[in-house]
Amino acid sequence: MAEAETPIPDERHDQIFPSLEPADVARARRFGVIRRLAAGAMLARAGEVGEGLAIILSGTVFIYSHDSFGQRQHILSFGPGSFIGEMAQLAGRPALNDAEVREPAEVLILVPERMRALMIAEAELGERMMRALILRRVRLLKAGVGGPIIIGPAEDVNVLRLEGFLARNGYPHETLQAETDVEARSLLERFHIDPGQLPIVLCPNGNLLRNPSETELARCIGLVGPIDPTRVFDVAIVGAGPAGLATAVYAASEGLSVLVLDCRSFGGQAGASSRIENYLGFPTGISGMALMSRAYSQATKFGVETAIPNEVIGLDSPEDPITGHFILQLADGERVTARSVVIASGVSYRRLALENFDEYGASSVHYWVSQREAKLCAGQEVVLVGAGNAAGQGVVYLAPHVAKVWMLARGEGLQASMSQYLVDRVSALPNVEVLTRTELESLEGEDGLLSAVRWRRAASRQEERRSTRHLFLFIGADPNTMWLAGAGIALDAKGFVLTGAQAGENRRPLETSQPGIFAIGDIRSGSTKRVAAAVGEGAQVAAALHAYLATRAERKSQIPDRSDPVQAAERSA
Ligand SMILES: Cc1cc2nc3c(=O)[nH]c(=O)nc-3n(C[C@H](O)[C@H](O)[C@H](O)COP(=O)(O)OP(=O)(O)OC[C@H]3O[C@@H](n4cnc5c(N)ncnc54)[C@H](O)[C@@H]3O)c2cc1C
Repeated sequence: MAEAETPIPDERHDQIFPSLEPADVARARRFGVIRRLAAGAMLARAGEVGEGLAIILSGTVFIYSHDSFGQRQHILSFGPGSFIGEMAQLAGRPALNDAEVREPAEVLILVPERMRALMIAEAELGERMMRALILRRVRLLKAGVGGPIIIGPAEDVNVLRLEGFLARNGYPHETLQAETDVEARSLLERFHIDPGQLPIVLCPNGNLLRNPSETELARCIGLVGPIDPTRVFDVAIVGAGPAGLATAVYAASEGLSVLVLDCRSFGGQAGASSRIENYLGFPTGISGMALMSRAYSQATKFGVETAIPNEVIGLDSPEDPITGHFILQLADGERVTARSVVIASGVSYRRLALENFDEYGASSVHYWVSQREAKLCAGQEVVLVGAGNAAGQGVVYLAPHVAKVWMLARGEGLQASMSQYLVDRVSALPNVEVLTRTELESLEGEDGLLSAVRWRRAASRQEERRSTRHLFLFIGADPNTMWLAGAGIALDAKGFVLTGAQAGENRRPLETSQPGIFAIGDIRSGSTKRVAAAVGEGAQVAAALHAYLATRAERKSQIPDRSDPVQAAERSA
């Protein structure tokens, strides 16, 4: 009996599922290998790394998603002229869903490297296919189809932590409420899980994790894998914010082998921005996550390797930077070897120096505003501290979703620290009250959940108490340079990395006090703290890297090779 298809609704069907013409398939043939598969053969298995992307020449392939009981649901059918895959297949990561041959099929398999080669060599066809891969991922993200299933209480600190981690990494997932969802309850009974062990995560490969760390979850779903210890990268980039991703795209597109590491997710601070309105080319603005997801996909297309999440905790420079290699030490004990290093580790949001701040930090304090935070606070009163552009953007995004925003600023007004267009927008919002010369004094709550805050106004010296579940902080940031301790990199008085002439004699622009190590973006002393500036420095450093690596290769070739008998004979002659 034919299985009924349960389609995921979509608006851009033709772009998501383009039909390749015979001429397109002919152009793609030189990049792949042909396979003949019998009915029932698996082209992809959820949770496993498959061969790559598959263009169907004949036959039919069904796509199945899995529910929390492991039951398959038929969501799509593919026939001749269509192709199977999404971003996971391009990146060589585990598949999110099953693909099973329904009627005997002939398919053209493109492994990730050959798919990337096609995208470069066949630009128009590559663009159509790339767009489809991205849109398919977006569609799965929206529908929460594929990827892990989180089961836990609503608003639990750890559920929010894991959801936030997957969302920031553009990874589809589904959350089932442990209290109300029948499916969730029977699963907990089946696996004998008691409430103290929640949340649990069911990974697509069938593994069950109990309240995992982000790294454990990332490893289980194949978001990050082991790094080849014998490989020497041309450049290792620390930080996948706009500066790091821009470097990756420009360096890889010009032929360098690139590894990008980030301890959290791609996108950095920019990924947390609800709406970036001052980035060139986006007149209606773009969410930071959308902009950074595009950059990440672009890096994947150019073959950039990523290790996210992976924290860098140390950097060793070689005695001789011409012949030796830099070693990055990672928190999990792994090491990365590279000919050059780019420091793009940006800054971290400042926290409040209040006594019980850490009690509420995980569940009730937020450092950015996105759809998720807006949903969490819907219809409530919230308090936001800060007076810069990020604070302004946060208020503008939040206000339509919440009952009221109390905006606390230390200074006399917003004008000195916020762009005028944002000051105008904030003042036009009827449910926003700006309290100037006001400082937060204490937090109150229970079981890790905030219930009220107290602030003091300088004018009256009076303390006021306000009930709230959510506190937003936009109070500046400090450079992420802890991992550079002992690396001998010169910093300015505030801890930002010095580059160029400020770092020492004969230093190239953007080069630190150590030859071969460069610093860009927010972490660089004197940089303009903006997305466009970070991206611009990423492009600039790619050129500097080329020049550095070329000089290094040239100088290396001039060093006599003592093991070479010809050179030895020439020397003694
Ligand atoms: C809420 C908000 C809104 C903003 N809105 C705008 C805007 O509208 N327009 C604008 O131009 N700018 C905006 N900015 C500023 C802009 O986002 C930053 O200037 C920009 O992101 C800096 O880029 P970066 O790559 O240098 O650093 P970051 O974006 O800070 O990225 C650094 C990355 O390095 C990683 N990292 C740090 N330490 C380590 C380590 N030891 N190991 C591995 N990884 C590490 C971090 O996890 C992070 O992902 C906003 C900032 C915020 C917070």
